[in-house]
Amino acid sequence: MTDSNPQRTKDFPCISCHTNCCKEYTIFVNAHDVYRLSKGLAVEPSSFLELYGAKDFDLGIKVKEGLVDLALKQKNSACTFLLESGDVFRCTVNDFKPGVCKSYPFQMSNGRLTQMDDKMCPVDWDTTEFEKMMVPHLKVDEYEWKFYHDLVLEWNRKHWLKKPLSEFLRFILERVESSMGSNHITA
Ligand code: SF4
Ligand code: SF4
Repeated sequence: MTDSNPQRTKDFPCISCHTNCCKEYTIFVNAHDVYRLSKGLAVEPSSFLELYGAKDFDLGIKVKEGLVDLALKQKNSACTFLLESGDVFRCTVNDFKPGVCKSYPFQMSNGRLTQMDDKMCPVDWDTTEFEKMMVPHLKVDEYEWKFYHDLVLEWNRKHWLKKPLSEFLRFILERVESSMGSNHITA
């Protein structure tokens, strides 16, 4: 969806928005997202994860349950972590929210920070203002998705449809934990 008449604002755009992004998108997550939410909230991943049939045969997770992708659960047609109370809309997991939530609606395009053409935000963001924060974050996000895709490929090679999702989740959480001490990009 393209905003045909965007207006720039000095205010933080989310203030004038009813969290459209948290209602409209399915939030797919990677191993680091699952790790941060699970540890941060001290809950099992199964309490906040939903399984979706994978569209990409190469990158879907091959488990007993089928060929699947992982996303956040939905509640009342919105992300399960969105709190709506009257006119107040709030993410209840701000400190641990998935990388894709932190970076939306920014992306890197030809080495430059840009906003997605089809963003749901009611106004344009001031890209210059967010560059310092977003560019390192998008680098970390890219690293974490590559890390996850490599894990999925490794899992699929070894365990093609033989083990349940619970074992895949244990596998990725252990790998994230053991990667913490090694060198990787940080924000
Ligand atoms: S759609 Fe854009 S402005 Fe609205 S809550 Fe999401 S990021 Fe903020
Ligand atoms: S985790 Fe937070 S920011 Fe992300 S979709 Fe859910 S409520 Fe929105």
